[in-house]
Amino acid sequence: MRAAVVPAIGAPLEIRDVPVPEPGPGQVLVRIEASGLCHTDIHAARGEWPVKPMIPLIPGHEGVGRVVKAGADVDPVMVGQRVALPWLGRACGTCRYCVGGWETYCTAPQYTGYTMDGSYAEYAVGYASHVVRVPDGVSSFDAAPLTCAGVTTYKALKVARPQPTETAMIVGIGGLGHLALQYARIFGTTTVAVDVEDEKLDLAKQLGADHVVDARGDQAANLARLGGVDLAVVTVPSPAAMHAAHASLNPNGRLVIVGLPADNTLQLPVFETVLKGISVIGSLVGTRNDLAECFALHAQGRTKVVARSRRLEEVNDCFEEVLAGTVPARLVFDLTA
Ligand code: NAD
Ligand code: ZN
Ligand code: ZN
Repeated sequence: MRAAVVPAIGAPLEIRDVPVPEPGPGQVLVRIEASGLCHTDIHAARGEWPVKPMIPLIPGHEGVGRVVKAGADVDPVMVGQRVALPWLGRACGTCRYCVGGWETYCTAPQYTGYTMDGSYAEYAVGYASHVVRVPDGVSSFDAAPLTCAGVTTYKALKVARPQPTETAMIVGIGGLGHLALQYARIFGTTTVAVDVEDEKLDLAKQLGADHVVDARGDQAANLARLGGVDLAVVTVPSPAAMHAAHASLNPNGRLVIVGLPADNTLQLPVFETVLKGISVIGSLVGTRNDLAECFALHAQGRTKVVARSRRLEEVNDCFEEVLAGTVPARLVFDLTA
């Protein structure tokens, strides 16, 4: 099968002909139709995080396709179903976090496209317990970005407990942010979208943002003029952007950190955090249930996925496009081509 492989940390990806993987016990083999490019895949290929991915690696954790083979102990009824293979490839199901509804913080997780091969390929294996069914009303092309960008930002808003009288700021209107903005609207908040690209600010307006703020200008003054914000979801992998978001929060404000910068340090002022009662919350993807909810919202026509189709052979150029900030808003590899 055709796959894009990271041969070594920091090396360009190679398109290789590799054997179709065999589903082991509890696993399914999926014929991938669409696979989104998450900025995480770039961090992974470049080894930018404290914990490194397996090498060689087939990245990709926004894969969607049909189950073509079931491994031992898997209900054969799954063959033929259309499923998504999210970042949370497997959780143990028995630790206190899994049992408590927080499987994303499982103590023994597998991460698709990081600790196990992902979906930049014509076929990928996933755990039957953790792939998520895609409803008929959602195309594979749309389901792909929802599988990480969607579920991650939906959950990031959920943990911030948005109220309809509050203002939510979304920093970064890329793959994650363009969906975060839509979920913030669904939760009923007034929305502020922040980016550094004119096209992204235009996209935010088209998606219904109440206010847009250009981070290249005087962001603090512009946000102060709007009366500050009550919650901020920062999707940009930049400590400076997180710091600026913290500074714009009103009392009882919540800073939700989602972007995962190579620079792993964020300095925040203690005094303002205490005097304003500010919460700083980290949020990692979402559960299977959260993803099912994202699919349901999309099937109801309540979200719009903004994405462009690409061939897997273009993967290295695609990484550059994402880094340049010129993508409206997600790239999705068409694995049927
Ligand atoms: P992306 O590149 O599609 O989007 C980033 C956006 O930020 C772009 O629109 C860019 O123009 C904008 N931007 C850049 N600098 C800015 C600044 N200073 N101020 C405002 N906007 C700015 O990336 P993505 O795929 O949306 O991923 C974003 C980050 O989220 C990555 O670090 C990724 O690893 C991380 N991520 C985290 C989780 C999680 O569970 N926490 C899940 C998925 C992705
Ligand atoms: Zn992702
Ligand atoms: Zn667990």
